[in-house]
Amino acid sequence: RTSTDRPLPVLGCDVTVPLVTGGEVTYAALDYAASAPALRRVWDDVAAYAPYYGSVHRGAGYLSQLSTDLFENSRRTVAGFLGCREDDQVVFTRSTTDSLNLLAAALPAGCEVFVFETEHHASLLPWRDARVSYLDAPRTSAEAVATLERALAGRDPKGPALVCVTGASNVTGELWPVRELAAAAHAHGARIVLDAAQLAPHHPVDIAELDVDWVAFSGHKLYAPFGSGVLAGRADWLRESEPYLAGGGASRKVARRADGGVDVEWHTTAARHEAGSPNVIGVYAIASACKALTDAGFDRLVERERELVARVRAGLAEVPEVRVLSLFGDDAPRVGVISFVVDGWNSSHFAAALSAEYGIGVRDGLFCAHPLVRTLLGGDTDDPGECGAPDAGPGERSLNAIRVSFGAGTPDEHVERFIGAVR
Ligand code: PMP
Repeated sequence: RTSTDRPLPVLGCDVTVPLVTGGEVTYAALDYAASAPALRRVWDDVAAYAPYYGSVHRGAGYLSQLSTDLFENSRRTVAGFLGCREDDQVVFTRSTTDSLNLLAAALPAGCEVFVFETEHHASLLPWRDARVSYLDAPRTSAEAVATLERALAGRDPKGPALVCVTGASNVTGELWPVRELAAAAHAHGARIVLDAAQLAPHHPVDIAELDVDWVAFSGHKLYAPFGSGVLAGRADWLRESEPYLAGGGASRKVARRADGGVDVEWHTTAARHEAGSPNVIGVYAIASACKALTDAGFDRLVERERELVARVRAGLAEVPEVRVLSLFGDDAPRVGVISFVVDGWNSSHFAAALSAEYGIGVRDGLFCAHPLVRTLLGGDTDDPGECGAPDAGPGERSLNAIRVSFGAGTPDEHVERFIGAVR
């Protein structure tokens, strides 16, 4: 092995966990799609900054000034990481869910929204107060573009519209044709927001090159689990809407009126949507993760991950009872997120056994993408709930699935242990 295909150092790689069979083993975190471990470098940066932590923006003291600089520099770092255009704003939020809800609250009056039913609930649900068209699951990436084209063709291009699409599925790991979908949206006068929660940790995301209007992602999936997220993109809708939260920091000027009410002049910068004391540590951690991934070289990370995906797919293919879930087919490009079912097994029991007997942490359930998982499993009439499902006996259809996911910190041994355990 060359130094270019080693995992990046992360926290938790030497944590040992007890096994039900006796003894203990180092924990194999294979649930990166839910939350990735912190990069060691992010943790070190946060620890080095922590003693200097101070309130941002209005503090006159030295540490407040230092924290303000770090906070605003972090904004510039994230803008650089995402290849933002000159006029784009980077708003710090709590998560992808928060970012998309913020954008939903900023939609212009009468805005139409177009979203595939296959989206994560964070991308599927925030728009319900708008005029939403839910698009059927496409079975190829070309069909996704054609479906969107068809849906947009009927609309009045003069009215505002938004398309919301994932960059990489949190269920199948498959990449969506973002550039083509953006071109289709723009050709019909619509804007597009990219849910990059699963894409950004695995692939470079260039907002200008993809020509999307906004990008949303979460720190805790990008190796910075400190409670922050990002919404970056076009300033106009954000500037023209009511603030997401009303409060200090978002307001430039507040004054009592003669009639006893209160007049407010809101900021027109990102601060408009960042009321309250911001999560400075979380924001600093995101910027640190952006720098760490850029320094490591995304090409290397993408290449190594491709290799791990191929190994896991090959390992799973050797087990006849395993069925890997896929919307776009076996050859579709994908990130390190793979969901599957095992004939004759309840997925929750299978995942529990991986943990109890092998120290492997995966996830089971419907992955906050109920319509997609139901489509992939062949549809069902029962509601299996959040993750519970009745036992699927031999020959019976599973009502939920198992997801294994990995990334820049995953050592070969975790992947090999997983393949061996499934076998
Ligand atoms: N979109 C996708 C594709 C996701 O995978 C997730 C998290 N599972 C989200 C959005 C929501 O992210 P968060 O929980 O950090 O808000």
